[in-house]
Amino acid sequence: MDERPYGLPFWIDRDRPDYPPLDRDVATDVAIVGAGIAGLKLARCLARYGLKVTILEAGKVGDGASGRNQGSINHGPGMDYSDAIARYARPTAQSLWQLGLENHRLIQEQIEEYAIDCDYQIDGYYSLARSDSPDAEAALAHYAQDYALLKEDGFAVSLLDAARAVEVGRSSLFLGGLCYLTDAQFHSGKYILGLARGVSSHQHVQLYGQSRVQQIVAQGNSAQVITAQGRVSARYVLLMLNALAPQFVPQLEPGLRAERGQVLVTEPLAERPCRGSFGTAMAWWREIIEPDGRYRLLFGGGRRREEPDSLFRQFDRDGRPHPKLEREGFSPSPAHQQRLDRELRTIFPALAGVRITHRWGGLQSFTADALPMIGEFDPDRSIHGMAGFSGRGNCFSDVGAAYLAGRVAGVVSEVERTFGHLFTQLLTVGRPSATWAAWETSNE
Ligand SMILES: Cc1cc2nc3c(=O)[nH]c(=O)nc-3n(C[C@H](O)[C@H](O)[C@H](O)COP(=O)(O)OP(=O)(O)OC[C@H]3O[C@@H](n4cnc5c(N)ncnc54)[C@H](O)[C@@H]3O)c2cc1C
Repeated sequence: MDERPYGLPFWIDRDRPDYPPLDRDVATDVAIVGAGIAGLKLARCLARYGLKVTILEAGKVGDGASGRNQGSINHGPGMDYSDAIARYARPTAQSLWQLGLENHRLIQEQIEEYAIDCDYQIDGYYSLARSDSPDAEAALAHYAQDYALLKEDGFAVSLLDAARAVEVGRSSLFLGGLCYLTDAQFHSGKYILGLARGVSSHQHVQLYGQSRVQQIVAQGNSAQVITAQGRVSARYVLLMLNALAPQFVPQLEPGLRAERGQVLVTEPLAERPCRGSFGTAMAWWREIIEPDGRYRLLFGGGRRREEPDSLFRQFDRDGRPHPKLEREGFSPSPAHQQRLDRELRTIFPALAGVRITHRWGGLQSFTADALPMIGEFDPDRSIHGMAGFSGRGNCFSDVGAAYLAGRVAGVVSEVERTFGHLFTQLLTVGRPSATWAAWETSNE
């Protein structure tokens, strides 16, 4: 009998500390809105410059996408390398992939600095072509092309033939694939809680929980961040709300489409289901190690972008925050979970009878060009931010935080020195390539 509440993510099905709520007005150098990975990493970087940082989190650490994801650390963005070369030219694409490697290095640095015990393991990220997909041949051709280009440019990848794909994917469905050998995964809950513990121990950082920001208003050349219990006056506001960023800066909505992903986790299994992180058409999965040495399978996907129940509008027709956005965006839906069950049975028929202990949903934001927006969101209210990670928060949030913190502190960071051209050419806020054409949702 499963007594876990429907909708509770596996990662945060554990004790989480309560950070005290804001209970008075305070003044600070930088106010950060949102304590997901992006907000916490930014606080860490700013504190290192000696700036006083106040973080306001609406609920508990881990409530957002950072506690609801696959927990994979990819160094490539969500696009094929050959497509990136066609779009941006080869040296820029190469630099973009190196930026992801730098992000991974920074994650390793934090795990070490804060001694975060988060089951971090480098077992690779596998993209597999499946025989029941109409795009299988095209996918195989892309993998072969990407493999050759990535190899030439010095990245650690391997190309999988059908036999190897069947071996690692544990299903005769697979025809071949591409593996990024140095990609990794961790326990997203242990990671973000450890990160919050480490960041909040800095003398310049104050983290408040249960402190939902209601409004951000200009105040001279700074801003006031307003909660029900108090106000924070700050020279800069860093909006780290992921898919909810347009709630405070509505002009961001055309480039930040809020999309709901859904996930399930099995009971501990008799055998290890896989080794590493995987993606194929309509599904992605990985294993989770239990304290007793057994493994669970985390399985997600099943999202069809053309289906309106995966996409959410920020505002209703009267311009008010849409009631479905937060209420449904962070919940699983039975229809989508049934699609996940079907995919799970197709790829892992041997798991047909296993008990599913956790099912959840999570909002994230996607840009049309699959790259995040990092920089100034609203000059009138001194608001900067990052959003639109497009399923790659663990690929961009550390380098983004390092870059933004340097800009705010008036220092040229190491990330800016090496990769500044990417931030000014590809990752700018409101760039036309990030903007979506009109889209349909079920909450028009
Ligand atoms: C199903 C799924 C799978 C994913 N898989 C991966 C993956 O494998 N690898 C990867 O790299 N990325 C993945 N992602 C994306 C990744 O999780 C996100 O890009 C990343 O977590 C975003 O971090 P964030 O800090 O910007 O936002 P969040 O983690 O969403 O944090 C925002 C915080 O703001 C708080 N908040 C909201 N409103 C307010 C308010 N008004 N006032 C104060 N605080 C507020 C929220 O409670 C939340 O804690 C996945 C996402 C999903 C949903």
